[in-house]
Amino acid sequence: MRRIFLALLVLAIYLLPLSTACASPKAKKSLPLNSKIIAIDPGHGGYDPGTLWEDLYEKDINLIVARKVADNLKKNGAQIILTRDGDYNYALPGMRGRQAKRYDLNQRIEIAKAHKADILLTIHVNGSRKRGYEGAETFYHAKSTDGKILALAIQQELRSIPGMTQRIAKITNCYMVRQTKIPAVLVEVGYLSNAHERKLLQEARYQELLAQKIAEAIILYYNSPETIKSNMIHDTLANANYVLRVMGYTILGESEEQELIE
Ligand SMILES: [Zn+2]
Repeated sequence: MRRIFLALLVLAIYLLPLSTACASPKAKKSLPLNSKIIAIDPGHGGYDPGTLWEDLYEKDINLIVARKVADNLKKNGAQIILTRDGDYNYALPGMRGRQAKRYDLNQRIEIAKAHKADILLTIHVNGSRKRGYEGAETFYHAKSTDGKILALAIQQELRSIPGMTQRIAKITNCYMVRQTKIPAVLVEVGYLSNAHERKLLQEARYQELLAQKIAEAIILYYNSPETIKSNMIHDTLANANYVLRVMGYTILGESEEQELIE
């Protein structure tokens, strides 16, 4: 009996490191976003609802979509920093207007910086007096090459959603994207002011689809940036806006979110 026990013990000791050795490479088998730190900023929050339609607030949709983006990225190995994970913002009591907005945005940028985020996405919903406007669009800062590639990737993936209006990635000078050294983009996932898109933006399935596309774009950004660049040459050339920009005209964004641009 004792001999059998000893034999089993020896066998167990022998097998233990072996099984660990077998498991190890599998565990290390890299997920596409292993070691990447990604900051996601759900725009607005607290007293600042963003754009709204009756009792439907942009801040709430931003948070739902941001959390879904976070889940999709985590599945691919990324470490996620959410700059807010509830209905609040960082402005201090007594602060008002622009001062409050800037303080809030600065805090969010600091959170991304403190966690050494590799990229920063600020997620928003658009609104316009022109009720016909619809479609997701992604913005980047003119001086950020990485920001541009990331924005092109996200816009390319969002455009692949069936029925999506074919907008292009655009330049923005909005505060958050301008003020951070981290490659940053502003993603407007759709227009709350458009009846069709307003309905979609409230559907969990559509929110998940947006999140999946954004996550796929981030994987593309890290793993095949060259593909993004070459795809977008055709894409952009096909778009008259690009030609106008080359000729020196300023293309005004259709975003109505002036508070971000201050
Ligand atoms: Zn917004």
